Amino acid sequence: MSAPVAQPLASHRGRSRGDLAARLSRAVEGDVLFDAASRGRYATDASIYQVEPVGVLVPKTADDVRAAIALCREQKVPLLPRGAGSSQCGQTVGAALVIDHSKHLSRIGAFDGAAMTVEVEPGVVLDQLNAFLKPHGLWFPVDVSTSAQATLGGMAGNNSCGSRSIAYGNMVHNVLAVDAILSDGAEARFGPEREMGAAPTRVAELLHRLRAIGERERGEIERKVPKVLRRVGGYNIDVCCPQSERPYTDDGSTNFAHLLVGSEGTLAWTRQLTLKLAPLPAHRALGVVNFPTLSRAMESARHLVGLGPSAVELVDATMIGLARGNPAFRAVIDRALIGEPDAILLVEFIGETREDPVRRLGELVMLMGDLGLPGSVVEMTDAGAQKALWEVRKAGLNIMMSLKGDGKPVSFIEDCAVPLEHLGEYVDRLTQVFAKHGTRGTWYAHASVGTLHVRPILDMRRDGAAKMRAIAEEASAMVREYKGAFSGEHGDGLVRSEWVGWQFGPRLTRAFEEIKDLFDPAGLMNPGKIVRGTRMDDASLFRFPPGHRTQALATALDWSAWDVQNDPVAGTLTAPGTGGDPAGGFAKAVEMCNNNGHCRKFDAGTMCPSYRATRDEEHLTRGRANTLRLALSGQLGAEALASEAVRSALDLCVSCKGCRRECPTGVDMAKMKIEALYHRQRAHGLSSKDRLVANLPRWAPWAARVPWLANLRNTLPGAARLGEAWLGFAAQRRLPAWRRDTFLRDAGAQRDAAAAANADVVLFVDTFTNYFEPENARAAVNVLRAAGCHVHVARAVEEDVEPSRPLCCGRTYLAAGLVDEAKIEARRVVAALLPHVQRGAAIVGLEPSCLFSLRDEFLVMGLGEAAQRLSENAFLIEEFLAREHRAGRLALPLAALPQKRALLHAHCHQKAFDAVASVQQVLALIPDLAVNLVESSCCGMAGSFGYDAAHYAVSVRMAELALLPAVRAAASDTLIVADGTSCRHQIADLTRGAGSREALHVVRVLERALGRTR
Ligand SMILES: Cc1cc2nc3c(=O)[nH]c(=O)nc-3n(C[C@H](O)[C@H](O)[C@H](O)COP(=O)(O)OP(=O)(O)OC[C@H]3O[C@@H](n4cnc5c(N)ncnc54)[C@H](O)[C@@H]3O)c2cc1C
Ligand code: SF4
Ligand code: SF4
Repeated sequence: MSAPVAQPLASHRGRSRGDLAARLSRAVEGDVLFDAASRGRYATDASIYQVEPVGVLVPKTADDVRAAIALCREQKVPLLPRGAGSSQCGQTVGAALVIDHSKHLSRIGAFDGAAMTVEVEPGVVLDQLNAFLKPHGLWFPVDVSTSAQATLGGMAGNNSCGSRSIAYGNMVHNVLAVDAILSDGAEARFGPEREMGAAPTRVAELLHRLRAIGERERGEIERKVPKVLRRVGGYNIDVCCPQSERPYTDDGSTNFAHLLVGSEGTLAWTRQLTLKLAPLPAHRALGVVNFPTLSRAMESARHLVGLGPSAVELVDATMIGLARGNPAFRAVIDRALIGEPDAILLVEFIGETREDPVRRLGELVMLMGDLGLPGSVVEMTDAGAQKALWEVRKAGLNIMMSLKGDGKPVSFIEDCAVPLEHLGEYVDRLTQVFAKHGTRGTWYAHASVGTLHVRPILDMRRDGAAKMRAIAEEASAMVREYKGAFSGEHGDGLVRSEWVGWQFGPRLTRAFEEIKDLFDPAGLMNPGKIVRGTRMDDASLFRFPPGHRTQALATALDWSAWDVQNDPVAGTLTAPGTGGDPAGGFAKAVEMCNNNGHCRKFDAGTMCPSYRATRDEEHLTRGRANTLRLALSGQLGAEALASEAVRSALDLCVSCKGCRRECPTGVDMAKMKIEALYHRQRAHGLSSKDRLVANLPRWAPWAARVPWLANLRNTLPGAARLGEAWLGFAAQRRLPAWRRDTFLRDAGAQRDAAAAANADVVLFVDTFTNYFEPENARAAVNVLRAAGCHVHVARAVEEDVEPSRPLCCGRTYLAAGLVDEAKIEARRVVAALLPHVQRGAAIVGLEPSCLFSLRDEFLVMGLGEAAQRLSENAFLIEEFLAREHRAGRLALPLAALPQKRALLHAHCHQKAFDAVASVQQVLALIPDLAVNLVESSCCGMAGSFGYDAAHYAVSVRMAELALLPAVRAAASDTLIVADGTSCRHQIADLTRGAGSREALHVVRVLERALGRTR
């Protein structure tokens, strides 16, 4: 059959691309992104592929999409709809105009609680929808692991399947209608056949031809379409005669929307979806079955399914080990284990009454006894514990992807579905295949439906492609033998479209092509996916093809920990610095981003505030990592890290370190930003403002001598405007006020060697506390002394080149990329504090961003063992007090305050370093004080970020996402507690005027409670 596919690449370079961009810009309200960096950021998804798009449209309205489709039709440019871009098979990469609807087309429309239906735009994210539905006692039950970022449009495009598909089915079972726009401009609501009588002629004709194909191929459909629930390859040609174990509709009737489900954007653009909802399960119970071997677990799966669970999910030994190695997951996974199991199965039961699932949990315990494994079940009836364990399971793949080195777990047979009775044998045989090819895989996920996820570790830069092909061929032979499905969850994309013919045979493949051509005669919609696909091992489409090169780079920070290679079979890493990265490990650290898009989550944790405020791919951790990767590999021009594209992508990164903790593969963008800024400032210098802020520790002593002069910017009419014009400080802001009564002026006047030698606590007073809020340091001394500590205030050593200048962690220098200057500060700090550490004193600080520099950046500045020792003994004051309290050593006489409530906003670095619980613990020592933690991301001030005129609006938007509404809603007698100096300034600045609020450092609150006991 001929292949009417639009040919974009050759004809849409240069001028014609420019024409399209210009015409689009005139025709649409949304963003038109045709620059190289934007195209690069949209050239990848969570697959191994990279294909540069023609350009990107972020439409504001459906009319924008209509206009784009018309223009593309005229210019013969392919179109590629995209949601979160979390597809694993390469279905969202292509040489096309990418239409990203995740930013604006994300409205929830008509909702009918009684009928349990809802209409959504394609960019609505699953967690967003379920948060909306929860108060109504409903949910959309296709619970994919990527629920925090996956859009409903993308889920429908992929026919996604959740962990509970055994109970609720896949997308195809839960989509009632699709309002679609075809590439020739025709529009229609595809839904139940009986409701499509009034479809426009073009669509009526299309349906007529589809019915004819279905009728003609009925026999072949029955022969070739796998009968398993998890089959998402090819088109759902069986809409008229479903082959799935679970019929697509309740009454067995035909619904034409189901043909669009799973079509991967190749047939039409989804403008709106009508979804079938389900009641939220009233009660759940979870049984975690611990198995001595993986094959025992697999053999048991079919017996467990007989108990009617809503999910049976596998976690194997490798994944258990990786989860245990992750601080965020260790405690949770440990609670689920009995001894050292080789695998666990998470068996969930749901029910209307509390007793029902608990009773079935009892049946599970009995069954395991009958199966020869008594005492193997950890019973979890507590909702919180269950949720935490599901989070670990959901993070499974991401945890696995945190493997360092060029060999990565590659997705291509990761979701084959086989009937349960063959599961154990399939796992054993495939494991042997992996071993034969010198690799291994980690097994996890949906044991209930025979879809086990497995990704062999392959190095695509070396021999990965050949091994991928060989393993795929052996796996496919087994799938055929067991009458399973080769594509059981993640779709076809670039990696599996060539297998569609293998799975369905030539006759149905031709029928698929016919269907494609009926919908999309010009071949504009996401060409090369499902039909007329490329080869899975076409290296020209790889993100890391053989010969992939990184530019050499002399890095400012030490990245050698990432410069390693792994041995997939032994599970070992080579020594730091031996990985062969010409960028000293920086490139490999950047390449840890696997594009899964988890940083697009919007409702929990910190990551990523700039994305939450802008919803732009450029201002997302993933977008930044991709920009850095492209720059480091020379794909963004000669300037590489010093380029404008890199500057722009990092501009709104507030260095909150949210990703350091929450990115499942540990992408630490705050640190990467320091490295990139270092190279940028070396090539382009710094602005006056940045230089002024960076050097604050050096000129602060002078400003403190004449605070009235230094504060004129805040007090003199017109000075703020001038400050904005000259330097770029936002005129709306009040800058922190200089104080004459600095803490160190009084406290640090004398050097008392004897007192220093006796001190068990050494107070590290940072630049901001010393000059702007000395009362916090005074409060710290009072609190520590009241706790019985001998306190010494840290000062530079006499041998220091500037012995009288206060110590500083160097954060202001790091924020500007002045790493050499920051190292000078760090060395001064280490020299001053190490002797105290060596004699056993604790180093205590107040400002999270400063103190945590000692535990983070100091370790990659080449300061050796001394920095390591210091980092192990440096604490925020609340961490120190909480530790003393836990050890039974803290006797702090605290009395009740007049205020009975406190609202706590945690600094991002407190969250990143797990220090929030400590603040809560010490506040809990104050009698009768109820503490409420704001579920907030970054406050938006972030050092000097929010003072910058260019950042002011974004800074306010970040604050308005959660923090400010919570502060405004707090009663006037509620204490607002915030340990970050910039957080306190943000709160004060943005509540100025009526209803103004002052936030306090926790140590001030403790001091007040102390004062009341005296
Ligand atoms: C770590 C990880 C875990 C995953 N877990 C699961 C899982 O549990 N279950 C599962 O099924 N999948 C899973 N996936 C795959 C993926 O996350 C899901 O398929 C998800 O539903 C895709 O949503 P998205 O918004 O990212 O879609 P995208 O990847 O952006 O798009 C998916 C497809 O839909 C098409 N499409 C998007 N919008 C439209 C539109 N408006 N009109 C027409 N076509 C459109 C695209 O062209 C593309 O072909 C996982 C992926 C990762 C990386
Ligand atoms: S930065 Fe982390 S969370 Fe974001 S896409 Fe990359 S790996 Fe995933
Ligand atoms: S440091 Fe914060 S703002 Fe920057 S990329 Fe990470 S999560 Fe986003």
